[in-house]
Amino acid sequence: MLNQTIPLKTIIDAMPNKTESDVDLVTRAYDFSVEAHKNQKRYSGDPYTVHTTNVGFFLAEAGLDAQTIAAGLLHDTIEDAGVGAKEIEEHFGAEVLYLVEGVTKLGALRYRGLERHTESLRNLFAATAKDIRVLIVKLMDRLHNAKTLKHVPKPEKRQRIALETLEIYAPIADRLGMSVLKQELEDAAFPYGYPEEYEKTRELLKERGHENEKRLEKTEKVLKREFADAGLRNFSMEARKKGLYSLYRKLERKDWDINKIYDIIALRVIFPAVADCYSALGIIHAHWRPVPGKIKDYIAFPKPNGYQSIHTTVYTGDGGALEIQLRTEGQHQEAQFGIASHLAYKETQEGNVPRRGSLDWVRQFFPLGKGTETTLREKDDAAETIPQWVKELSHAHGGSAASEEYLDTLKTDFFSHRIFVFTPKGDVIDLPVSATPIDFAYAVHSDIGNTMSGAKVNGKMVALDTELRNGDVVEIINRPLGKPSRKWHDIAKTNMAKKHIRAALAAREKKNS
Ligand code: MN
Repeated sequence: MLNQTIPLKTIIDAMPNKTESDVDLVTRAYDFSVEAHKNQKRYSGDPYTVHTTNVGFFLAEAGLDAQTIAAGLLHDTIEDAGVGAKEIEEHFGAEVLYLVEGVTKLGALRYRGLERHTESLRNLFAATAKDIRVLIVKLMDRLHNAKTLKHVPKPEKRQRIALETLEIYAPIADRLGMSVLKQELEDAAFPYGYPEEYEKTRELLKERGHENEKRLEKTEKVLKREFADAGLRNFSMEARKKGLYSLYRKLERKDWDINKIYDIIALRVIFPAVADCYSALGIIHAHWRPVPGKIKDYIAFPKPNGYQSIHTTVYTGDGGALEIQLRTEGQHQEAQFGIASHLAYKETQEGNVPRRGSLDWVRQFFPLGKGTETTLREKDDAAETIPQWVKELSHAHGGSAASEEYLDTLKTDFFSHRIFVFTPKGDVIDLPVSATPIDFAYAVHSDIGNTMSGAKVNGKMVALDTELRNGDVVEIINRPLGKPSRKWHDIAKTNMAKKHIRAALAAREKKNS
């Protein structure tokens, strides 16, 4: 499929619950892009539409809405086929144009040397905070380019694209919780980014992989019996193979001793309910001795990107050990497809039919078009194209002078310390991990913070010190005479919220004296 133009029908078939106008939009975008690129070829010599139709197809498969799929099909028409922005808007509307232009802007950035690199990162992130769909199109664009890297003639260019994919794009996919995409990006780029390490890792895995597979099979058999004896019948099991790049990264941390890595293959068990996962954990630990320090309860304590599962590693009695992962169906969807499925899953919890694919939630939760809600934001924020946290980081590291350190911080620090949450209208607000509804309210606007009387997270009233999680939809309840208090000041995690609360407290004191 990677080297073929994907037929329109295949793309439309991949879109569940589409309306007639969805099909119409995608059909027109498809035909338009085929026409626009008809004289262009890829490095492989294939028609250019191989690329654009694959990107459209990836997006349809990932369950994005018709506008995003159309934007995927059209994403190179402005930059590479000389189509005017006006023409796109006339044919497909302002929203599709907004997405295409967002992707074009990202694509126009060339990664030459560190300085440019850092600059691109900033822009990339700025686009994220505005509309996550722009970023998802860009990730799918990169996925197809990474998977067809072998056709790029110049080795230096091949390697540059590969390294960029590994260091920038895959971590972003990870940050969005899109683990399937992350692994695909990494494994496509690894051989070209680090050829020697790739060969070494592959060799090592070839030697030891078989042993692990046998252990998995044996454990799976025993577990099925144990679960059945305990009355746990409703589950599915699958083997999860660690990606080669991720294995390489771990080998580096473990002095290249593959015997120290227990999750080359993991056994994953998917249950209907959270309680089943804990029952299963008990059964597993009653049967095999767990490896100390390897039990991780990401259900009770999710990772910053929203990931939830219980991990445990057990000695299997044959001199080795095996990782077992326990999760619910909803958690499984989210772990694979990220923020997207998280939101879709919430719909199902509220009793609606799960509809990953048609995804009205995309409309509901992601901002449509230009700065939907920026008017709500404070002026000094809205005027900027660079999100607050990027500025914070860049200031913390002395701006461009320290860009190498800045880049490092972004790569390691940032991605594990921020969450993306949403306003009911779908504006994306980025906050540090463990931020509360108070931080959220002040991040939207100081007036919203100052008049806050309560908050709903995912439709439910919560305490003001509730820690927000990635993908949460937060609604602030206001009343005209809300009262910021000392207690709020203690609860708040961000400096911005603390600053505004202090100002409000001081103003009130002045009035009373
Ligand atoms: Mn492209």
